[in-house]
Amino acid sequence: ELYNKVLELRGNIRVFCRCRPLNDEEMTAGATMAIDFECAKDGELAVKSNGALRKTFKFDSVFSPQVDQADVFEDTAPFAASVLDGYNVCIFAYGQTGSGKTFTMEGTEEARGVNFRTLEKMFYIINERQKLYRFDVSVSVLEVYNEQIRDLLIGTQPGVASRRLEIRQVGEGTHHVPGLVEAHVNDMAEVWEVLQTGSNARAVGSTNANEHSSRSHCIHCVMVKGENLLSGECTTSKLWLVDLAGSERVAKTEVQGERLKETQNINRSLSALGDVISALATKSSHIPFRNSKLTHLLQDSLGGDSKTLMFVQISPNENDLSETLCSLNFASRVR
Ligand code: ADP
Ligand code: MG
Repeated sequence: ELYNKVLELRGNIRVFCRCRPLNDEEMTAGATMAIDFECAKDGELAVKSNGALRKTFKFDSVFSPQVDQADVFEDTAPFAASVLDGYNVCIFAYGQTGSGKTFTMEGTEEARGVNFRTLEKMFYIINERQKLYRFDVSVSVLEVYNEQIRDLLIGTQPGVASRRLEIRQVGEGTHHVPGLVEAHVNDMAEVWEVLQTGSNARAVGSTNANEHSSRSHCIHCVMVKGENLLSGECTTSKLWLVDLAGSERVAKTEVQGERLKETQNINRSLSALGDVISALATKSSHIPFRNSKLTHLLQDSLGGDSKTLMFVQISPNENDLSETLCSLNFASRVR
């Protein structure tokens, strides 16, 4: 509750920066660390090149490579409570491919990420509040690839073929994707099953699953209906958990045809997201939601009294410095 008050006072957009550890290959190759975490407690980090200071950045939280999933989630958990309080929440992971976006959001079975932990926390709170409230939770899993929306839970519906999904406006400021599968979940076992189904469906139909996942946005939407059992008052809210496509710049000269279109679509949607969040942060009168499928889809949950959390993921390797600076600059712009 205190945290929510703090959020309101300081605006509704939070940026956390997380750096992955050097991997074995980089260690073997004797890679140099380009990031200094001495001031991480104060939300600061310093970028170095050739041992000299390049630039410093400040975020709401900075997580060095040693910080584990549970500690990252400690700072993220208040957003889970916000959803049950009736707020819409968006949590994004942004960064170049290989910087740890999927690790942060999805995690692994041994080191579960934000998606699982947020839902787990929500069910914990639902249980705590059960004398006063009744909650109804459902989950959709979708993907935006080349500005097209694909339902990753469609395979769970017998006899329903895959189809192209569109965003429709239904009434004042409410957007809806007709036909999108919404799986009711009553407990974490059911959540886990849905998350697995979505994850597996993502790989289907692509020759290289890893490459495909780095070129598309993977989105989980958690819809919550709450009813106050005393007053009868009802709330509905949404939580969006988004593992974004890789932000690395690809030289246009290097790619052609399908791949060029893909690259342009990724660039367009990531810059549209940056434009929307920075327009919201500066309280601009025009918010360009319609410039990409992603921002259009999330329109109801960005701005107003919604809360947004952006994880900017970075690599510590000096070889990745130029992408790291791009990501940190992007994140500074939305803050
Ligand atoms: P992305 O989704 O941004 O392409 P991944 O999440 O797949 O990146 O991470 C790339 C690799 O680095 C994976 O093998 C992942 O397990 C590992 N990794 C990323 N972040 C961490 C971390 N904080 N701690 C340990 N391993 C990590
Ligand atoms: Mg990934």
